[in-house]
Amino acid sequence: MPPITAAAIYARISSDQDGTALGVARQLDDCRRLASDLGWPVADEYVDNDISAYSGKRRPEYQRLLVDISERRRDAVIVYHSDRLTRRPIELEQFLEVATAANLRHVRFVAGAAVDVTNGDGLMILRLLSAVAANESDTKSRRIRRKMDELAAAGLPHGGSRRPFGYDDDRVTVREQEADVIRSLADRFVSGESLRSLTTWLEASEFQAVGGGVWRSGALRGVLTSARIAGLRSHRGQVVGPAKWTAIITEQHRDRILSRLAHITTTHQRSPRRYLLSGLLRCGRCGKPLLSSPSGATRRYACVSGPDHGGCGRLTVVAEPVEELITEAVLFRLDTPELSAALDGSTSGDSQTIAMGQGLADDRAQLDELAALYAGKEITSREWLTARQPIEARIRQTETALARATKSSALTGLAGQGVALRTGWASLNLTRQHAIVAAVLNHAVVGPGTPGARHLDPERILPRWRL
Ligand SMILES: [Zn+2]
Repeated sequence: MPPITAAAIYARISSDQDGTALGVARQLDDCRRLASDLGWPVADEYVDNDISAYSGKRRPEYQRLLVDISERRRDAVIVYHSDRLTRRPIELEQFLEVATAANLRHVRFVAGAAVDVTNGDGLMILRLLSAVAANESDTKSRRIRRKMDELAAAGLPHGGSRRPFGYDDDRVTVREQEADVIRSLADRFVSGESLRSLTTWLEASEFQAVGGGVWRSGALRGVLTSARIAGLRSHRGQVVGPAKWTAIITEQHRDRILSRLAHITTTHQRSPRRYLLSGLLRCGRCGKPLLSSPSGATRRYACVSGPDHGGCGRLTVVAEPVEELITEAVLFRLDTPELSAALDGSTSGDSQTIAMGQGLADDRAQLDELAALYAGKEITSREWLTARQPIEARIRQTETALARATKSSALTGLAGQGVALRTGWASLNLTRQHAIVAAVLNHAVVGPGTPGARHLDPERILPRWRL
């Protein structure tokens, strides 16, 4: 038999309560390891979140996998466990129909049998596994549902294989260091930083995802939107009441997270950071970080009091002049001989990043157009799926490359480029601008202003440089 050339990895998680989306990271890790052990090149990964296969709800990534198999773009599938793939015999029959009609040759499970779908024994094993899983989920779901109802009503945590990020294994005791991280992530998200940029930051930090896998923005979203961190017990997607564990953020804070997320979802804003200096300014009165705090149409940074933030609440500054001042200072610093000396001028420069950003924008525009065509019934759902696939693959690639470039080399090739950079500054996106500023500036302290002053007094801003 010729070697496998384009394997697919499929992962699914059936409930996203309490940030258990982290489970996907583990499924993926184990599947990738198996692929590499087998020497199978992975062509794509398909991840469905928070949807139970047993309930029969649609699984978009599973559908995409079926299309790719039927169009002979995949010749093997790796899944963590047979119950991840299908949980109803009827669904398995559909899968097998597609698989045998196309050239799919192997299905492998991390936990369990290797199944060669091209021979009868393999098919039988797969049907057997599916029948067992279906039977299990039938009785299990009745039994578990009753138990879950009881726990939820009492505000008690439910089990699950992994502790939630921010809490100990007992799921009640707060892990202070992780709780600090959650609060800071929540603040930065509410201030306009993108999930992707926060994920990149987390990846670079010392805080690992529970289970040790990579951080993904889906997992991070799961943590930030969980009712759990606000001390609430959710059950079947609904908040059912106060929980027995301690809250890490307030309910109001969680509401702000949810409302920003809803806003992003409805406006399709992918990178809506609006505050260049979020996380980089400190209050000159009490030393706490300033948060974005718009007043009408005016963007402002402010020291915020209250249980989540603990600031003095007595300092505000209008965003734009501070951002201009700091940007000028950063660009000036990038031109100093000291900085040039501190950095060795390796190559990958900014034009490349700009080109990648442009490519991403083009690809996303194409996806939007396709979606519009589909919505207007000008193409079928199958045509839509097929056309999306190469574009989405390209987007994922570019995003990875871009994240890497932004994370590891915000300053690569920029030393001594302050003047040149200044002309292109406006064309960089905010995430990139922020990365450059943060690479040079540790933080800036904002001193108290004179009441009624019409312009920003530059003396108020005290930068602490990294470089
Ligand atoms: Zn303050």
